[in-house]
Amino acid sequence: MKDRVDRSWLDWPFLEDGHRDFAARLDAWCDGLAVDHGDVDAACRELVRRLGDDGWLAPTADPEGGALDLRTLCIARETLARHDGLADFTFAMQGLGTGALTLFGTAAQRAAWLPRTRAGDAIAAFALTEPGSGSDVAAGTMTATRDGDDWVLDGEKTWISNGGIADVYTVFARTGEAPGAKGLSCFVVAADAPGLTVAERLETMAPHPLARLAFDGCRVPGDALVGTAGGGFKVAMSVLDTFRTTVAAAALGFARRALAETLERVTARQVRGRPLADLQMVQGHLADMALDIDAAALLVYRAAWAKDAGQPRITREAAMAKLHATEIAQRVVDMAVQLHGGDGVRTGATVERLYRDVRALRIYEGASDVQRVVIARAVLA
Ligand SMILES: Cc1cc2nc3c(=O)[nH]c(=O)nc-3n(C[C@H](O)[C@H](O)[C@H](O)COP(=O)(O)OP(=O)(O)OC[C@H]3O[C@@H](n4cnc5c(N)ncnc54)[C@H](O)[C@@H]3O)c2cc1C
Repeated sequence: MKDRVDRSWLDWPFLEDGHRDFAARLDAWCDGLAVDHGDVDAACRELVRRLGDDGWLAPTADPEGGALDLRTLCIARETLARHDGLADFTFAMQGLGTGALTLFGTAAQRAAWLPRTRAGDAIAAFALTEPGSGSDVAAGTMTATRDGDDWVLDGEKTWISNGGIADVYTVFARTGEAPGAKGLSCFVVAADAPGLTVAERLETMAPHPLARLAFDGCRVPGDALVGTAGGGFKVAMSVLDTFRTTVAAAALGFARRALAETLERVTARQVRGRPLADLQMVQGHLADMALDIDAAALLVYRAAWAKDAGQPRITREAAMAKLHATEIAQRVVDMAVQLHGGDGVRTGATVERLYRDVRALRIYEGASDVQRVVIARAVLA
């Protein structure tokens, strides 16, 4: 299978030699990665530990503050997703969960958490979604009220990845400076803050730690505010600008694995005395899969390159990359299952796992139709 993976994209001018070297080293490291997913919490803890110990989490946060290298994040997610969806998940969450601190945190906030999350000593989570507000972030109702020097958080967050195993959450709550988006603020909350509990663990078709969290008079110090009061929506959107592109990169990793598995299968599998790959109809499907993957990769690395080159916002580019890459990954993986025949739907088959792994990417960090709205807004402007 390994020889079937296309690596020609690494020569594209969006990337530098340091990125190519990083990709080759991480790919080699992943070859030795065999983590039992039976207990998903334990698997995630082990993956964070191993990624941290070997230095792979360093690109997820910058203790000095400032921008992250988005091309490195994309290469990491694409590579990890190709090998192990849970490894990609654990890597991604260390970045998403601390993105607000890297981009907007004070020196003290960064020093308190980022060396630990980069080393794999602490697990991070990003808590934006509420039971009544998913796509419509500005409708969030969780409150943060000033009480002396402290803030007191009340409300619920749901669908929180790493909920239950995280050591630190970046949490968005309404501080009421204005209605809607302008009345939200971001807080950094340690998992052991009094009043914060895991209300429910959520199970999904591609298991990873997920929870609904309850904040009941959860008291945090005044210096837990990240950025300015009322600036939370901007914090959330800036973090998502960066990490949306990496969701697209993960989709690309799943799609590349699906194509590699399919190439292996159609060249080995005999139908009427000839390999499946000799059939023109099959070749047509392979061509569509390869074309979809290259087109998505161009959008992913265009967005990442634009950000790294200093473009202040990449909202349009990130939305295009996420929309296209997650949609084609679904198609590519579905065709991979189809070309595997009955073996494609067997529990435990690689393409069966990919089929489940790829689905949620079209929903979280902005569902596909929400990306269409974002792109249309940019085009109309
Ligand atoms: C596996 C998984 C992990 C997640 N991890 C996290 C996490 O770590 N942190 C976090 O905060 N959240 C997380 N989420 C939540 C995720 O971001 C939300 O599920 C997502 O934003 C959609 O919100 P919703 O589920 O409330 O769906 P809704 O907002 O109800 O949307 C449902 C559907 O309605 C349509 N729709 C909604 N709005 C529009 C619109 N404006 N225009 C057109 N169509 C629209 C879309 O088809 C959309 O898929 C996770 C979700 C999943 C499934």
